[in-house]
Amino acid sequence: MKQNAIIPIFIPHKGCPNDCVFCNQKKITARQKPFEISDVRGRIEEYLPTLLGRGLSTLEIAFFGGSFTGIPLEEQQAYLAVAKEYKDRGLVQRIRLSTRPDYIDDRILENLRIWGVDLIELGVQSLDPEVLRRSNRGHGPQIVYESAAKIREAGFELGIQLMIGLPGDTKEKSLYSVREAVGMKPAVARLYPTVILKETALYEDWKSGRFQPFSQEAMVDVTKEMYRILRDAGVNVIRVGLKSTDLISGKEGSAAVAETYHPAFRQLICAELAKEELERQLTALLAEGTGRPPEERERMAGQERSQVRERTAPGGGNSRRRVLFSSCGESFSDMIGNRGSNRAYFEEKYPELLFRFCRDDSLGQERYRAEWDQRTGRRPDR
Ligand code: SF4
Repeated sequence: MKQNAIIPIFIPHKGCPNDCVFCNQKKITARQKPFEISDVRGRIEEYLPTLLGRGLSTLEIAFFGGSFTGIPLEEQQAYLAVAKEYKDRGLVQRIRLSTRPDYIDDRILENLRIWGVDLIELGVQSLDPEVLRRSNRGHGPQIVYESAAKIREAGFELGIQLMIGLPGDTKEKSLYSVREAVGMKPAVARLYPTVILKETALYEDWKSGRFQPFSQEAMVDVTKEMYRILRDAGVNVIRVGLKSTDLISGKEGSAAVAETYHPAFRQLICAELAKEELERQLTALLAEGTGRPPEERERMAGQERSQVRERTAPGGGNSRRRVLFSSCGESFSDMIGNRGSNRAYFEEKYPELLFRFCRDDSLGQERYRAEWDQRTGRRPDR
């Protein structure tokens, strides 16, 4: 059973006079009817009946979009008053919001404290000055450090949102940003590979060839490392990649340039991490008892693979050793990989072995185990 759920309330571009190169909210918002206070209550009432009574440990109201603390204080209070009313009645447990790093000061934080906000997410995007400048963020890195410190000192939980592959970005800069972000001690983080949306400056730059996005392979490589750094630091990565519902569609169809968007991006990342962990364990398994240095083992493994290819060719014998890979149910699809990519990888790279993928719920989430498979006879995966 799911333990936490969020009631998302999207405040479209309110309070944001900026024009970040990747953001299309301003243009979209100009075509939409204004968001009213009554819409907040309506949204909460719409969600509550389906969420209450499900035994959730936490139900949270989340104000997303635009820059919440950039709107006039009275409007913030009006929105938050509705959320706090539900919190006071015990119908929701927490309130969170997202905003820009340069829209935090003592007065704003005091107001958020009064109205029961628990977690503040900062849209940091990058901590590299050039990336921030070329993305037209309107602030440099210094304000991010200051605001993050203020948020934590005022007793709020901190969330950090980072983007990967913005103009001027590189793998090194993204890894620098995530390490700096870890130093701010966030409770949660979101990683957003840059998606080129129509009606943005980035889209125009891409069309004219001035902006070249990361390839999907490069994006997976960088994001995977960032995810690992956050996870190893104990930061809960609550989102990787945009949801399809985040892509506001225009009449002309999807708002995103297809090659910069993957609907299952998180799975690509988690599957890569699963593959690396299983291969690390498999290498140790193969080395057990050989006492040989890694280069020699690799050379011998190569010889064995070509022999196995001959043995398993039509008409040859089949004496392949069996390996069992296990994960809990939640991580099973990551272990197999997107469209079976990990299964295909291991079967191709280790033809001398037979692989079985198995579910073991005694393992924690994102924990994997490789061992010799003691069972004889091959059964289907479960
Ligand atoms: S600050 Fe946020 S809402 Fe405003 S333009 Fe930038 S990304 Fe869009």
